[in-house]
Amino acid sequence: MRSAFVECPQKAYWQYFQHYKGGGEISTDLHAGKAFASGLETARRAYYDDNKPEDESFAIGLDVLYKEYGDFVPPPHKANKSLDRLLQAFIYYRKAFPFARDPVQPYRKKDGSSMVELSFALPIEPELLLHPETGEPLIYTGRADMIATYAGALSVYDDKTTSQLGPKWGNQWNRRAQFTGYTWAARAYNIPVTQVIVRGIAILKTEINHAQAITSRLPHHVDEWHYQLIRDLTRAIDCWKNNYFDVNLADACGAYGGCMFQQPCMAVEPDPWLETNFIRKIWNPLARTEETILPEPKND
Ligand code: SF4
Repeated sequence: MRSAFVECPQKAYWQYFQHYKGGGEISTDLHAGKAFASGLETARRAYYDDNKPEDESFAIGLDVLYKEYGDFVPPPHKANKSLDRLLQAFIYYRKAFPFARDPVQPYRKKDGSSMVELSFALPIEPELLLHPETGEPLIYTGRADMIATYAGALSVYDDKTTSQLGPKWGNQWNRRAQFTGYTWAARAYNIPVTQVIVRGIAILKTEINHAQAITSRLPHHVDEWHYQLIRDLTRAIDCWKNNYFDVNLADACGAYGGCMFQQPCMAVEPDPWLETNFIRKIWNPLARTEETILPEPKND
């Protein structure tokens, strides 16, 4: 949401504050990525927490991937993210990174359980940064795939499925706020994370390969992120209070095939466009549920 707001406040307002979502089509990348991540998380839990053998753990994870993917049919240009290819990628992962020999191992809590997944919801600045309507502290919530140890350092770990891995693939994570936020959250729980590991699995039509990026998150990175987040949210609150959200009118309007709000954004009256061409769904990141908002009945 912060990223969308920084890109274009008007877009963030429609997409996240008013909850308008385009046409109902499920994103293939998101659907495939979610099913793959669920499979891996289940396999890790089976191995590290339930002490099941590695083969059995991966088999359990594979089954979860299969069920989560369901009967979804990707469009032809996304055939590389079909169920068949995802299952092959899972088997590839198992061979490339067997748990027993993986240098990335989950960090264990004091009770001995592994930190396969870190879910959190923390006030950003409890006394100062308050919701403009409710007066409640604004909450930062997220979910990291794993808190891990690697080369002696505590790390935020994330798996990413992708369609390509170039030589500069790893550069995109160096400044990525998502991982700085996870680091901030881990530190709030007294887990002194200092680095981020991102493992990319490229699922192509004819081959599968992988890459791993390691980047640091030192205390000054976290302080910078927190300060910037407060500035961005303060600006968002000002937009809300002034009932005006700035427009980008530049690259964001045309990126990735064009902003989905171009038509309402060009209209004198955007509401009819929004009500006719979009549906409203509220994603609750704490409950991890999505609820559709039905349109108000019209009085003739
Ligand atoms: S079309 Fe451009 S200005 Fe309008 S909401 Fe989209 S990104 Fe913002």
